Amino acid sequence: MNEDTDSESSLLVVIFDTSLTQDVIINEEIKLSECLEIIITFVNSHLMLKSNNKIAMITCDSKNCQFIYPDSTNEPGQLRQTDGQYELFTHVEKTIRKNVQQFLVKTLEGEIGHHDSLFGAACSIALCYINRLENEKSLGDKMNSRILIITGCGNSGDQYIPCMNTFFTAQKQNVTIDVCSLQNEITLLQQACDITNGVFLKLPQLSSLLQYLLWVFLPDPTVRKKLVVPPPVSVDYRPFCFCHHELIDIGFVCSVCLAIYCKLSPICTTCEVVFKLKAPMKPIKVKKKKMIKS
Ligand SMILES: [Zn+2]
Ligand SMILES: [Zn+2]
Repeated sequence: MNEDTDSESSLLVVIFDTSLTQDVIINEEIKLSECLEIIITFVNSHLMLKSNNKIAMITCDSKNCQFIYPDSTNEPGQLRQTDGQYELFTHVEKTIRKNVQQFLVKTLEGEIGHHDSLFGAACSIALCYINRLENEKSLGDKMNSRILIITGCGNSGDQYIPCMNTFFTAQKQNVTIDVCSLQNEITLLQQACDITNGVFLKLPQLSSLLQYLLWVFLPDPTVRKKLVVPPPVSVDYRPFCFCHHELIDIGFVCSVCLAIYCKLSPICTTCEVVFKLKAPMKPIKVKKKKMIKS
């Protein structure tokens, strides 16, 4: 308890997948607006835990990702209390609602892609923001940063390489990545949590999303050790092949760029190196050392 000083703060970056191709949205099991309400309650709970706690929010789909909160064009300047609600909560709620709405309008105007959501790009934005705040904070202050991804997407490997790169960057920056999956066991994101010591949770019941968020993801990773949280999932460490984006057990690895393929090919399509598959082995001539006469 003594460690919890005023100079210590916690930054929570929520990445919300608003892709309209998510199974839970298509099957109408949960509405995006319901999810958003729950996320606003959750981030306000995080702000309520400590006065110097901070939050940020990013939305992503298969084509874009956007910073939702904080919004530089809409600073909490002259806020008035409405219905006795704390001013900051009102500001957070209004900014998130307005910006997510704008993001969805932009999505609906364009063509809806059928690829994976851009978690790699969204995590990169989050890591850049965390890095900026780390550089801006005054000497002696400590900031614990973490990322929470909330998604209902499936299990495909379109974004395998950009995602893995950002997950390893997060690990180096000591940023924990937590994932709350609304429906599927997502191999790629399970690996992200395992690499960064985060928690991967597949929701047993969609109706209890808020309860699970408050129970599992509200406490900081240091506090979680003292709580009874769902046991860690067994992580599927199979990689996705670069040719078909499918999970493979045994594959071929390019010796130059470490790209993984499910079939043997004489040319690596990633780095374009040509392999000499049946090159005859040259006998190695061993030069005899001349004896030095003493
Ligand atoms: Zn393949
Ligand atoms: Zn290669």
